[in-house]
Amino acid sequence: MRVYNFSAGPSMLFEDVLKEVQADMLSYKGSGLCVAEMSHRSKDYMEIHSEFISLLRELMEIPEGYDVLLLQGGASQQFDAIPLNLLKNGKADYVITGHWSERAFSQAAPLGDVAAVASSKESVFTYVPELPSSIFRGGTDYVHITTNNTIYGTRYTSLPDTESPLVADASSNILSEKTDVSKFGVIYAGAQKNIGPAGLTVVIIKKSLICKDLPRYCPKMLKYSTQAEADSLFNTPPCMAIYMSLLTLRHLKKLGGIGAVQKINEEKAGLLYDFIDNSAFYKNNVNKKDRSLMNVPFLSPNGDLDKKFIKESAAAGLLTLAGHKTVGGMRASIYNAMPIEGVKALIGFMKKFEIENK
Ligand SMILES: *Cc1c(COP(=O)(O)O)cnc(C)c1O
Repeated sequence: MRVYNFSAGPSMLFEDVLKEVQADMLSYKGSGLCVAEMSHRSKDYMEIHSEFISLLRELMEIPEGYDVLLLQGGASQQFDAIPLNLLKNGKADYVITGHWSERAFSQAAPLGDVAAVASSKESVFTYVPELPSSIFRGGTDYVHITTNNTIYGTRYTSLPDTESPLVADASSNILSEKTDVSKFGVIYAGAQKNIGPAGLTVVIIKKSLICKDLPRYCPKMLKYSTQAEADSLFNTPPCMAIYMSLLTLRHLKKLGGIGAVQKINEEKAGLLYDFIDNSAFYKNNVNKKDRSLMNVPFLSPNGDLDKKFIKESAAAGLLTLAGHKTVGGMRASIYNAMPIEGVKALIGFMKKFEIENK
């Protein structure tokens, strides 16, 4: 029996995708092989690899002057790779909107004049700070932001106007809403929230930012030029994860593309936020304007009830609703693959729990 999995990541995959993988598991396209058993130089795999890249380009409308790199190591490895590759003048600005931007900042800080120019830490990251262009320092190599804050449930609803290239960790909201890629120097994301299984990391990068002769030593495997020159086949890519991610992209296309998916996401998040806002029992502490479409944290009247909620919801087939340990309470992650029925089932459970416990 399937359950509704509200995990922040790895998270739900589309059921159609899982069924297709299952059907192909023993013999992909009559090859007698599972994709995970194939040479990454084989014709069948190469087709998967290039279709993933071209379909991502199509869905996200990625302009010509950008490369799509299929890497490993998660977003966390990009926290190292970004400063190593992009700090050409040794200066960058970071905006701190949560745990992951703090991590990105702390991995870059030893490598140059790296500044945290704005932060919402004093309010436990319940909002995204105002970012007038005067807040950024001149002459930086890049400005780093986290477009959706997975733990705190905030997102950028508009982008800062920066002179330097904007570098974005979009791990938890890539493919969830329309994005103008041309506004960014780099967009990167671990796959396991909104793309596919863990193991794949997608980096969309402006070609002009890829540099072979870096001012400092950068390990070959962390250098963007290594994989850009090799079409992300310098070494064995995570073939199975890329295959399953391709099936997800095909599914998104079938749903009508990112614009259509965004509408569904707005509807799903809208139902949940409206219910919370109209309830005297539950609350969400995030600044309304900055609310995430993907991660919805909420609290019951007290910590004991939160624990009870998490236990009883799991028993009802609504899984992984515990909030991150730094915020407590509950968090519903409702990525692209969470069907609206899952959100409705959650709201139904919340109503019942409120009646039983108020
Ligand atoms: C989950 C997450 C990460 C960490 O990703 P890994 O792939 O585990 O390294 C980084 N940034 C954001 C915004 C995340 O949601």
